[in-house]
Amino acid sequence: MPCTHRVRLGTVSGVRLTRFTDLALRIAMRLAVADPAEIHTTRQVAEAVNAPYTHVAKVVSRLSELGVVEARRGRGGGLVLTERGRDFSIGALMRELEGSGDVAGCDDAPPCPLRAICRLRKALREAQEAFYAALDPVTVRDLVDRSNEPLEQSGGPVLIQLTDRPS
Ligand code: SF4
Repeated sequence: MPCTHRVRLGTVSGVRLTRFTDLALRIAMRLAVADPAEIHTTRQVAEAVNAPYTHVAKVVSRLSELGVVEARRGRGGGLVLTERGRDFSIGALMRELEGSGDVAGCDDAPPCPLRAICRLRKALREAQEAFYAALDPVTVRDLVDRSNEPLEQSGGPVLIQLTDRPS
């Protein structure tokens, strides 16, 4: 049987994001709630999102290419979330980072012999696009903005919730 139908986004099995995309979202949210008066180095951000420095540096580089994050050099430098990054659509960011490949690995080596006629492939593509489309209206700003929630429902400052991750 050539196909195990492991539905995936990126390279991991199951309906879940790649680690790269998850880290990108963690970094964007962490910077979105950062005190602008403080300097946030890549190493500090790596610690804040509980990820290895080298991984975070690669993700920051990609986020910089997309204009989501700016790495300011020199005295007073550090990582900042740009205004473009603050308003960046989560769906659009995921499309950029996850790519448009088949979620079931139809063209992997060896390629699936059913791929030329497979209706499941088309259905999975549509489901993938629906997943992204549901996240298109959501921005990074939305993920950290709790101004519309009553205080008793907000669960406390977002900054604390983002930094106190269970290990
Ligand atoms: S072509 Fe169809 S059967 Fe083959 S891997 Fe893709 S979804 Fe699965």
